Amino acid sequence: MDRFEPNLRIPGPTALPPSVREAGSRQMINHRGPEFAAMLARILDGIKPYFGTTSDVAMITTAGTGGLEAAVVNVLSPGDRVLGVSIGSFGDRFAKIARTYGADVTKIEVEWGQAADPATLRAELGRDPGYKAVLLTHNETSTGVMNPIRDLAAVVREVAPDALILVDSVSGLGAVPFEMDTWGVDVVVTGSQKAWMSAPGLAMIAASERAWAAMETATMPRVYLDLRAHRESHAAGQTPFTPAIAVVYQVDEGLRLMTAEGADAIFARHEACAAASRAGLEALGFELFADPRHASRTVTAAVVPDDLDWKSFNGELKRRGLVLAGGQGKLTGKIFRLGHLGSVTIEEIIGAIRTLEIASIAAGRSIRPGVAVAAAQVAALESYGIVTPTAAGAGA
Ligand code: PLP
Repeated sequence: MDRFEPNLRIPGPTALPPSVREAGSRQMINHRGPEFAAMLARILDGIKPYFGTTSDVAMITTAGTGGLEAAVVNVLSPGDRVLGVSIGSFGDRFAKIARTYGADVTKIEVEWGQAADPATLRAELGRDPGYKAVLLTHNETSTGVMNPIRDLAAVVREVAPDALILVDSVSGLGAVPFEMDTWGVDVVVTGSQKAWMSAPGLAMIAASERAWAAMETATMPRVYLDLRAHRESHAAGQTPFTPAIAVVYQVDEGLRLMTAEGADAIFARHEACAAASRAGLEALGFELFADPRHASRTVTAAVVPDDLDWKSFNGELKRRGLVLAGGQGKLTGKIFRLGHLGSVTIEEIIGAIRTLEIASIAAGRSIRPGVAVAAAQVAALESYGIVTPTAAGAGA
């Protein structure tokens, strides 16, 4: 390792800013006391605009998957017809949770690397009018694809107006705009270790008024994940069970940093980092895995070329301080992923591309030194509108 700290560029857990790290090491407090109540209120108020909702949000001590499970078990009953739209491994997981709890799940399986097609969704909802809920993944971390949730939700609202729309935005929310109320989405789940720049351990879940009402009649079993208990306790400034206080401190601090930066600046930064990642990887000769029309703004997946020994290449990256994620499930060994969400700067992305460039040259790939770094930098500048594509091309 030739760096003091690695350049952690996996799509979560994301790197922590210094003040968030410090926040996590603070002394414990009484989770039934006024300090905790004030902190919880700050977090719930501060996070709502990122969901785009005025409805109540619950914060549960659990991994993101627990949040997905909470979404399912709170609004559904065994035997309910559910349409699981899967574009990758996290879409599969969402559908599996619903099936495990007894829902009658039909899946739309989209080819990995592609986004869900509103027309396909429309056709399926038209074919079977009995769906109680539709499961969607906002950002499919396993493939680097971001679904057009607004368009997909619009189809559901039009064709199956009574169906609930449950969205996994574990790795999207906070990094890109989301308008839950305007789009007519019913439940949205996110996780502390992604855009919120905190350690893993908390899931934040927003539910529409329709979803809160559905919880009164839903009969899937739930105790720890009963969102009504969390909402009731939150109203009293508490959580029903002992929360991961250290992570709560961190999310509070992360949101403070996010407020200081401003949502628009955060979204622009993620867009620029995504553009730089894609341009840099392409300039290094890697084929991007995702359909470019739906490329994620929080994680970029690239295909491992046949002539590259990924294991030894990745070992070299790690030795040089760059930590990337490999492929998951059926994509193991076939793709690698560069995370750019949460606490991430253009400089860190350019640093990652530089490391990839050096390791590529060292591995004997035919790359002109500096070209990928320049491509990443130009893409970031273009994304910020600092240079126009024409001017950048002319200068290159
Ligand atoms: N959904 C998506 C889109 C994710 O990216 C992840 C984690 O990477 C999860 C769900 C699961 O979160 P966790 O690993 O915290 O259970």
